[in-house]
Amino acid sequence: MERYAGRVALVTGASSGIGAAIAQALLRRGLKVVGLARRVDMVKENALELKDAPGTLYPLQGDVSSEEGILCAFKWIKENLGGVDVLINNAGICRESLPSTGQTAEWKRILDVNVLGLSICTREAVQSMLDRGVDDGFIIHISSIFGHIMPLDPLYSMYHASKHAVKTLLEGLRKDLVARKSKIRCGEISPGLVKTELFHALKKNTLEVLENMRMPIMESEDIADAVIYMLSQPPRVQVCDIILRPTGDLLN
Ligand code: NDP
Repeated sequence: MERYAGRVALVTGASSGIGAAIAQALLRRGLKVVGLARRVDMVKENALELKDAPGTLYPLQGDVSSEEGILCAFKWIKENLGGVDVLINNAGICRESLPSTGQTAEWKRILDVNVLGLSICTREAVQSMLDRGVDDGFIIHISSIFGHIMPLDPLYSMYHASKHAVKTLLEGLRKDLVARKSKIRCGEISPGLVKTELFHALKKNTLEVLENMRMPIMESEDIADAVIYMLSQPPRVQVCDIILRPTGDLLN
């Protein structure tokens, strides 16, 4: 992990939940963390308690559903910090939408953020690493247990589909990097339920329902710990996937 102290990490979706926890964990380990989100004030607020951490936070307003927005962010990073050494593709949204009645605009929104935004950020980060001869860069996708199992509820089909796409894109990226003889590493973290704002956008009060069902649930810091584990492995080890489920998980 020491190798990344002083290096530049871009964390997308750093304004809340898992992304905020990852940004904090990286700041504690001395990285320069670019925290990208639309609600940039929340990125700043979340890091206030970490004033004494050795790392430096660069809050950056940006929307990963817009290619132009992503390119602007990478341009800013290149001009101000040199480039991206570690990319954490965390920004993601979940919406309820049945395959039989769902709105096309809603499906596009999920795919724009969870799949295309992640892909554009990945491409730009890899190019930034290759341009600067950075051979120990790292790309981590925050996927989901739903990238590994089939939908339990058809309402979340497009969200599941987006996370299955993340898994496929990761393996494509790994093979692409191997073919280039690059030592840049990539991996994904696949969490089960985590208590975050992700549920706030859902029409049903899903979080309350889950809590009433006494559904076990993890905290964002648990996922940040897995990111640190992945980054801490020696260069010869590439942890490709970490599946984290709450103990006693009731989901099949
Ligand atoms: P939150 O809703 O708390 O966080 C989502 C983050 O993504 C926010 O910081 C939000 O920032 C950002 N985001 C959303 N849309 C955009 C956009 N267009 N551009 C830039 N940033 C955006 O949820 P989580 O922390 O739970 O979600 C983080 C990741 O974890 C997601 O990829 C999610 O799929 C995944 N995950 C979550 C699980 C859970 O149970 N919570 C389980 C498994 C995976 P802002 O709105 O300020 O732009």
